[in-house]
Amino acid sequence: MNAEFPETPEAVARHYDFITPFYEIVGSRSLHYGYWPRGETGGSFGEAQQRFTDLLIHQLGSQQGQRVLDVGCGLGEPATRLARSTGCKVEGITISPSQAAQAEQWARLHDPSGQTKFHCADAMALPFPDGSFDAAWAVESMFHMPDHAKVLREVARVLRPGGRLLVADLVLSAEVTPREQSFLQHAFVARAFLTAETYPKLMSDAGFDVEQVLDVSANVMATFDAVAAAIQEKEAEVRRVYGDAFLSGVKDQWARISQSASRCMGYLVLTAKRRSR
Ligand code: SAH
Repeated sequence: MNAEFPETPEAVARHYDFITPFYEIVGSRSLHYGYWPRGETGGSFGEAQQRFTDLLIHQLGSQQGQRVLDVGCGLGEPATRLARSTGCKVEGITISPSQAAQAEQWARLHDPSGQTKFHCADAMALPFPDGSFDAAWAVESMFHMPDHAKVLREVARVLRPGGRLLVADLVLSAEVTPREQSFLQHAFVARAFLTAETYPKLMSDAGFDVEQVLDVSANVMATFDAVAAAIQEKEAEVRRVYGDAFLSGVKDQWARISQSASRCMGYLVLTAKRRSR
């Protein structure tokens, strides 16, 4: 899925500019996993993605009038859904200029009340004053970041004391060989994956009191089968946009990613509160 290494922020931006139409074809304008209640599978991938966004909105617990930062906002669909369902104001940042422009366009259509704004910015140098947000979330963006600790410190800086942070992220959940780790990092354009053991400490060191670590691995892993089925179903459209070589490559690559990720990757939703300074 990815043609570049090492995973600099610029490489991440180029990756998304290339791959976004693919994810829009097989899923929705949300660039994250789907969620299935225990024991359930099936249904469309796009629906499962929206179900996951709704769970994250619930976990974040933001309220009307609050100001929320979306760290790694993608195409703006999760931020717009958050703003519409809670009445909070959301500012999203992404490392990709074209994503920021697309998110603005999306918001103009789906958030007519103007509760959302999007910017191109690096999460490791947030362009916002200290204590200017009530809450923040980072949904499947942390694994791309070259320096997790720096991002968490930046988010702590721009949150008011007591402000909430939600992080939804892929983690390593089993021993991996260096070869497999490098394959996964390359495939996900990830600088590094944390583990369930290291994440809470990193958040605590950055100034957060961790409230909950929710392991949703079993609820999101059907994403791999759902995307494979969607590739099959939307084959003609993927071929039209990307050509034959991409289509056969993506099928093989997806099968390899699925096998490896199902064996050694998990998924956590962490919620935390910004400690007083
Ligand atoms: N949260 C969105 C998008 C997830 S994709 C959704 O759920 O749909 C990962 C996002 O992280 C992309 O928008 C990418 O541009 C962003 N990202 C990755 N590295 C970043 C960085 N250093 N600074 C800001 N955004 C970054």
